[in-house]
This record gives sequence, structure tokens and C-alpha cells, in this order.
Amino acid sequence: MRIDQTTIREILARTDIGTFIGTYVQLRKRGRDLVGLCPFHGEKSPSFHVHPDSGYFKCFGCQKGGDVIKFVMELEGLPFPEAARVLARRAGVELAEEDPAAARVRGEKEQIHAVNELAASFYHRTLRLGAEAEGARAYVAKRGLRQETVDAFKIGYAPDTWNALVAELQSNGIDLAIAEKAYLVKARSGGNGYYDFYRGRLMIPTYATTGECIAFGGRSLDGQEPKYLNTGATPVYTKGRGLYALNVARRSAVDREALVVVEGYLDCIALHEAGFTNAVASLGTAFTPEQATELRKYAERIFVCFDADAAGSNATAKSIDTLGAAGCTAFVVQLPPGEDPDTFVRANGAPAFAKKLDDALPWIQFKLDREIATILIKRLPPAQAAQTAETLVSALPRVEWDKWRVYVAGKLGLAIDDLRANRFVNNPANFAPRIGGGTGMVRHVAPTAEPPSVDREILAALVDEPTLVAEFAPLIPSEVFTDERYREIYRALCAAAASLVTASDVYAVLGDDRDAVERVVALQKTDRSSQIRFPDSAARRAHLERVVERLTEDDLERRFRELDARIDAAFASGAAISTEDRDEHRKLAIAREARKKRRLSPRG
Ligand SMILES: [Zn+2]
Repeated sequence: MRIDQTTIREILARTDIGTFIGTYVQLRKRGRDLVGLCPFHGEKSPSFHVHPDSGYFKCFGCQKGGDVIKFVMELEGLPFPEAARVLARRAGVELAEEDPAAARVRGEKEQIHAVNELAASFYHRTLRLGAEAEGARAYVAKRGLRQETVDAFKIGYAPDTWNALVAELQSNGIDLAIAEKAYLVKARSGGNGYYDFYRGRLMIPTYATTGECIAFGGRSLDGQEPKYLNTGATPVYTKGRGLYALNVARRSAVDREALVVVEGYLDCIALHEAGFTNAVASLGTAFTPEQATELRKYAERIFVCFDADAAGSNATAKSIDTLGAAGCTAFVVQLPPGEDPDTFVRANGAPAFAKKLDDALPWIQFKLDREIATILIKRLPPAQAAQTAETLVSALPRVEWDKWRVYVAGKLGLAIDDLRANRFVNNPANFAPRIGGGTGMVRHVAPTAEPPSVDREILAALVDEPTLVAEFAPLIPSEVFTDERYREIYRALCAAAASLVTASDVYAVLGDDRDAVERVVALQKTDRSSQIRFPDSAARRAHLERVVERLTEDDLERRFRELDARIDAAFASGAAISTEDRDEHRKLAIAREARKKRRLSPRG
């Protein structure tokens, strides 16, 4: 489909980019820009800028940028025409019809959305007012759901008859063949007419993050099997793609920098009711990669809270892997056996669930605990147990080895040295296991031999908070480093900037470069004798900003001009321009621009 330029200009003119992006990302005013945490890459400090005047957004971390249509394309994974359509609908801009084939496909999807919305309204109205919904209202009341919650999630009731929805749709002139594609009605055998698919069930609609009603879950109220009857595959819905309540939870997820994932609709709704508005439901027993990728757009930290039984535990273990692969950091919320989030929060209140979130296990500990339990059950001889344990530990990201080796050894009653296969660069004296102290392990580190230097200070700040690399890479050229080895490490980090979120990512970049790993380990040592200490993100940022200040403008200009001349010369002689030169040129250009902007805008 083609949308003409006039229409695009009208969509852009009628959409305030700041207000629009503000519904996805918490933005703060800084000078003439609005600034927030980038929804496209993990970061702890904001490098995502929106310029309301020009109508553009730009992330200085991952370099994504463009107009508001581009924003919708990136965030919702939509092709250009679809993104333009979403915005046109919001802005009330009429779009000309596209070619017939595309129009048919799109038309069918829109019709399914419309019939779903009509059904959701009908079910909701029936639950609120229908005489036949008395039992359903009693059920809702028994579960402690407030009216605002019922309205916010548009919970409804499907009457226990064969043609209530059919009649409602017919009176609205709906083509029932579309309703059948939406999984709302079924064709009678023999081909005369349709009957309601959902009967006598509490109806919970699922909405896409773009606002359309895409599916339903119908919970049986009289013990009828199945407990949940769900929408099958339709042109607008694929099981394992969406997440229930993400349309509501995403804003709060961005604010709280975390999402809570539960299994069922009613678990999720109960958490929202208790104030955990960043809860979503996976509606399945384990995550799909698509769902994990979707979650990652809104938060890096994912709290998984599945049932406490064996099936739930297995689903959790699987989900952890899927989340990790998508770049999320998983935490496992553990509820008492037999409880689910719904029963727990209703019986114990919101503060008790908040405490469970605080006590959530890091994913590594959850996985190790499962493996340790197996080793203990098998009663392996110590040498074999140590070998198995070391295999477990060395499968973890390198940066985690020291800490978890201590943990595993403590749990199995083994000596650390039995585990350590001389693999790591640290001295055994650096570790002191503390058995019986839960997870409270202490790491002792010998004082570092090298005195602090500019090189080491910059790297220490970056390794402490790797998301800063993307932000400062364009501002701090590698020439600032005097020590060649540190300069190489810095360059390696800059080259991988977009993928750096946690310290383990840094180690992954360094790979088998033992010397580099050793240097970074030394930087990370957190004992009091070290003089390089940044207590928090603000201190790290302040330090890096000072470094940037120190680079005089002259210096920047000189290097930029040198590079410019080199590229010009290459052009003139027809020689190839190296990727490094081109990248460096681009970085310097961005740095110049950033400096210019800093000079013009007041500090904030
Ligand atoms: Zn970004």
C-alpha cells in the first residue's frame, strides 16, 4: 500500500511526538528536549531524546531515531503502512484505499478487531447488567475484584445459551463468517447458521499494545471442562505471541524498570488490583522467544512468578533460558506451595507480595538450587560431586564464577579448591566460603597493584555500568587512553556497545583474552583499599562527563579535520575508506553535535 506524502505530513502534524512517546516512555524535560530511558535497548541512564519541535526522536545509545511513524514501526514491529495507519486512526486522518488484495487482508483483520470489540462490549454489559449474569457477578465479588478493575479489564460474561452473541452480532449487521474467523461463533453442522462458542463463561478479553481486542479467554464458572476456553489461531492472534495485560502494564513497567510475569489472567488481574500494575500473564506454561523479546522492549528485569509445583518449576527454568536469550535478567518469585499470585496476594496483602519480589532469587541461584538438589539426591561421592558442580559453575557467564562457586561449594559441603580447576585468574585467598549463611557470601579481594589512572578510572566506571559505554563511546575517543592495553579493551567495548548491559556482557566481549579479563577483574574489585570507587550511577556519570569536558574542543576539531582530510584524500585517489575511519568520523561528528548542543542548552 502507498500512502501519499500529504497524508503522511498530516499524520505527523496532528500527532504530538512528545505526548505520543510519553505514553510509552517516561520523559523528563531537559532543555528543549524530552529525555528518558530508551525502549529499544537496556539502559540505566537516559540517552533517549525526543525533540518536540522537529518531531524527531533519537537514542544516543543504540542510535535508533526517526519520526513518530518510525517509533511505532520499531516499537510495535509494524511495517510502515501499518504504523502510519495506527497513527492515522488516533489522529483522525482519513487514509485513501490501497490496492484490493492488501485491502482485503487488512480489511479482514480490521473486521475481526471490530467484531472482537463488539463482543467484548456485549459480554461486559451482560456481566454488569444482565439478569442471567447474577452467578457470574457473585463469582467476581467472591474473588474480591472491584468494579473499576472489572471495567478496566473489560471483564464480561457470556450467557449460557446458544445464540446470545449470534443475535447481538446479527442486530449489528455483522457478517457471521467474520465472527467465525474470530473464533467467537461456530458454524452449525449442516450449514444452517452459527452458534455461540463461549457459553456460561467469565470472559476476559486480550488487547494488543496497539489497542485492538485480539482474543478471549473464557473461564468456566460451574466446574465445566476445560477450565479455560481460549481463542485459537486467527488472522489477528497467534498463541504464544502476545502477553495478557501488556497494553496496561507497559507504562508502569517502564517506570518501575521491571515486569512481573504470572501464568493466568486472574493472577495478573489480582496483582493489578493490589497495585502491581506492571504484571502481565504469559497465558501458557513457558515463554516463547517472541514474548521474551516483547517484554524486553519495556523492561530488562523480569520477575517470573509461576505456580510452586513441579510443572511450574520446570516452566520457570525454561522461561529463564528464553528470557536470558532475549537479553532480560530473570528473577524467580517463590510463593509457598499450593499458592498462586491470586490466592497469595488476597490472603496476605500487597506488602507481603512486595516482600516476595524483594526476596526473588536471581536466575542463576534458582537454576543452581535445582541442580544442587539433584546432586544431593544422587549422593555422589565428593570428587564426582565437585566435578559436576564445577561443570555447572563454568557454564555460567565468566563474571559469575567466583561468587557461585562459593555458593555451590557451601551448599554441597565441599571445599572451593575441590571445585576450582585453576581456571580463573584469582588467587584462592580471595574467596571465603560462609556455610549456613544463606546467600550472604563475602568476597575478599587483595588490593590492586596498579595506581589509579585516567585509563583505569574511565574503564572502572564503564565496567561498573556497561550501558554507559554506548552513551559515552561517541564522546570519549580511544586516543584518550595512554596505556595501549586499556585502549584496546576500551575499543573492544565500544565496538560491542549496543550489546553491553551487565558486567557479564563485558566478559563475553573480552572472551579468552586472559590479560584483558585480568585487568577488568582488577578494576571491578570493590574493597575499600581501592581508590577507584564510584558509589552510584550519578558518580560514574559525573566522572565520565568530566572526562568529556577535559577533551578540549580544539582537540576534537583537530582530530575531526585530520580524519576529514584523510577521507577526502581517499575519495580523490579513489581508494577505499576503511570502516574504522568511517565509524570514527561518524562518532566525531556526533560528538561535535553533542558539544554544540550542550553549549546552547542550559544545564539540567
Ligand atoms: Zn537506545
